[in-house]
Amino acid sequence: MANDTNKFQAIISHCKEYGFIFPSSEIYDGLQAVYDYGQMGSELKKNIKDYWWKSMTQLQDNIVGIDAAIFMHPTTWKASGHVDNFNDPMIDNKDSKKRYRVDHLIEAFAEEQKTTGNEQLANDVLAQMDALLAKDDFAGLKKLIEDNKMKCAISGTGNWTDIRQFNLMFSTEFGSMETAEIPPAGGGGANKVYLRPETAQGIFVNFLNVQKTGRMKIPFGIAQIGKAFRNEIVARQFIFRMREFEQMEMQFFIRPGTQKEWYEKWKATRLEWHQSLGIPAEKYRYHDHVKLAHYADAACDIEFEFPIGFKELEGIHSRTDFDLKQHQEYSKKKQQYFDNDIDPATGKPYGNYIPYVIETSIGLDRMFLAVVSHAYEEQDLSTPEKPDSRVVLKFPAKLAPIKLAVLPLTKKDGLPEIAEQIMTDLKPHFRCFYEEKDSIGKRYRRMDALGTPFCVTVDHQTKEDNTVTIRHRDSMEQERVPIGKLKEIVLSAIG
Ligand code: ATP
Repeated sequence: MANDTNKFQAIISHCKEYGFIFPSSEIYDGLQAVYDYGQMGSELKKNIKDYWWKSMTQLQDNIVGIDAAIFMHPTTWKASGHVDNFNDPMIDNKDSKKRYRVDHLIEAFAEEQKTTGNEQLANDVLAQMDALLAKDDFAGLKKLIEDNKMKCAISGTGNWTDIRQFNLMFSTEFGSMETAEIPPAGGGGANKVYLRPETAQGIFVNFLNVQKTGRMKIPFGIAQIGKAFRNEIVARQFIFRMREFEQMEMQFFIRPGTQKEWYEKWKATRLEWHQSLGIPAEKYRYHDHVKLAHYADAACDIEFEFPIGFKELEGIHSRTDFDLKQHQEYSKKKQQYFDNDIDPATGKPYGNYIPYVIETSIGLDRMFLAVVSHAYEEQDLSTPEKPDSRVVLKFPAKLAPIKLAVLPLTKKDGLPEIAEQIMTDLKPHFRCFYEEKDSIGKRYRRMDALGTPFCVTVDHQTKEDNTVTIRHRDSMEQERVPIGKLKEIVLSAIG
């Protein structure tokens, strides 16, 4: 089995070769940190989305979904704090001109110390970094970099600029340049709009619309899946960090004072969701935030062990009433909820308040990468007689892009006709794929590489007794079953 860096590279190549992910506009040499999902990737992505959407809306009693626009009134981002605070501290190496996110540079240094046995130094440096970041002490951070002689990976020098803040939002012009098209609410009135850096604000500004029209009673949630855009400076690592990506977010509106218990509940619920996909528990861990974002009173990440190490996959944030309060202030529109439940302490209704919010926010593309990294296996199947190997994507059946491949053993003797009839009968129920080219062994391997859980072979016996062989991807075992049972077998696996 390849080591992890090699495994990561192997996954990237596999994703391209089998139609999962292509670099964006590749014929023009691509666009950094922007990717396109191919014919297999878009199916897998959609299945992940559907699985999240179903478990976060349909299977809940009190969570509904929306689909807000990417463009929002620019005052939204002033109110949310993104115009002033959505920055990353950066440092440039003067010799290579390479720009680093300060926390990434220091973390990479600490990682290197750990691998060479300097665990103590690594921990000290990380603790100092956390303390300095919490105070926005840039001079202190630069000193930490210089005192520890941290070097640029390209130039090999420690010739650094001062640390500067860099805003991560993309902006563009709205309408014609000549006339202001944006209503002047809270300082607007120009043409500049942002591409949303998170989907959450589309939920906050619709909080009362949904609450009133949906007659929602606190506690309740609003879920959304959609694109977000960030001008990431260090944009490498394939789809782990992209400039255009998708988020699956849910804001859960609660009574003030209950945030601790709901935060714990959502932390646990989201981890259970990940584990319900059959990925082992040890691949996940919590990471509690030391430096809290400007809106949070508690926050943690669910980290996943990617081939590039444990990294953030999902964030759970206790956002207090920060966002709704800010929108109330900037829009001058009340963002209150009237709670007519009785407060046992006073014997009277809780009355009007701005709800508190617990947020769960997962990157769809990162989830895709987690699913593919866990599914990817290079297997040595050699026997003393002959060398053999395969690459298999062991996707959970419910996420697999294709559920069933239908393969006639030969192109003649009426076998393709029977196979086509099976396709006609089953394709309304789940995604099927027909293939008659190449030897059956080669076709099986190709389906393994696409992660197809079941392959059905139509052979001469089928003509006599209406049975086919069904091959199971992971065990490679085959069994003979009546054609009439195929639907049930697949449906029960993708359940
Ligand atoms: P990071 O620290 O990795 O930059 P973050 O803490 O800024 O991430 P959040 O703002 O909490 O991320 O966003 C929620 C989720 O959105 C993240 O857990 C991640 O899965 C996803 N996400 C954030 N930025 C990106 C990106 N540039 N590319 C892909 N997914 C992203």
